Amino acid sequence: MKIVDGVHRIRLFPSSVYLVEGEKLILIDTGVPGYTGRILRYIRKMGRDPRDIGFIVLTHHHIDHIGNARRLKHITGSKVVAHEIEAPYIEGKQRVWKDGRIWWTRLLLWIGHMMFKKCFTKVDIKLRDGDKIGNLKVIHVPGHTKGSIALLDEHRRILFPGDTVPYTLAYMRLKKGPNPYSWDVNKECESLKKLANFDYELLLPNDLKIVTQRGAEFVRQFVHHACN
Ligand SMILES: [Zn+2]
Repeated sequence: MKIVDGVHRIRLFPSSVYLVEGEKLILIDTGVPGYTGRILRYIRKMGRDPRDIGFIVLTHHHIDHIGNARRLKHITGSKVVAHEIEAPYIEGKQRVWKDGRIWWTRLLLWIGHMMFKKCFTKVDIKLRDGDKIGNLKVIHVPGHTKGSIALLDEHRRILFPGDTVPYTLAYMRLKKGPNPYSWDVNKECESLKKLANFDYELLLPNDLKIVTQRGAEFVRQFVHHACN
């Protein structure tokens, strides 16, 4: 589905992914394992060649974001990109479950790590805060995971926050407290405050819903309710 000129959302469950058009395509996250064909079909339907994907940017290492990166990289020859702190997790060198805050999230992370070992992939480009991938500015937002990133398209005024601002969960969190999947909720609040200070209209998280107007204001409201 086209969101605005040059920006597409491929609706997957539970985590959608985004395509940003330029000379090369940038794919933001890749969904749970099994969606490679669906992503490739979408690109062909746009009239582009899957080999036009220049970069696969992973906002963080959770399996619903990295699930198809290895296969897509193999098929398209694109480069996998992530924050330098996330790289060892994405490459399978770091024990992800150790970062679970609650016993059942640790258990789920452990199961995911064991079940999806075939999805681990080499990170070709390691990012830091302030770097750029195409027109997207990298913002390091530790909290959901240690090396989570958000991506800001300053020209189009769009923020891709990864799981740092999940729209659906955001509403639940107002009622039920912090994101159970996040590594450090205090750091996550610091990062949310950081995101609230940028300028963007559209807020495009990976989960079910998106924010189409006054995205930065949405984040400010969220910080106000969830972090004070
Ligand atoms: Zn996540």
